[in-house]
Amino acid sequence: MRIGQGFDVHAFGEGDHVMLGGVRVAHSQGVLAHSDGDVVLHALCDALLGALALGDIGKHFPPSDEKWRGADSRSFVRAVAAMLVERGYTLGNADITVICEAPKVGPHAQAMREVIAADLGVDIDAISIKATTTETLGFTGRREGIAALATVLVQRS
Ligand SMILES: [Zn+2]
Repeated sequence: MRIGQGFDVHAFGEGDHVMLGGVRVAHSQGVLAHSDGDVVLHALCDALLGALALGDIGKHFPPSDEKWRGADSRSFVRAVAAMLVERGYTLGNADITVICEAPKVGPHAQAMREVIAADLGVDIDAISIKATTTETLGFTGRREGIAALATVLVQRS
């Protein structure tokens, strides 16, 4: 078994929604990002890559590459899932925490779990989505941006 952790942040900017765990969530702002700025999926990809010591998401999907402009981050998850399979590993479980004051994550958590489980080819029970605030402290507390943490365990198939 191997463990991996990931962390991602995007600043809020103009817009009317954010992508979280592959789900479009209505919000008074969007996020500044080269891709769709999905912190949940970016943290998850980094955790999976970390578990296999394969570097990070920036190495595999560099923001300098025009082909990732506006990219659907689910394509990153599917690509990383394929790397996992290639190396003989499957996901044991993933535990993800979204950190923000808004938007509310709870009402969308189940849909996010379904998307992630489908893209990784695992049972929904293997995917946990939690949310917290920072009690109005720091950049997330000031509603300047959104963050996510992911921890995964992978095991030899
Ligand atoms: Zn990101």
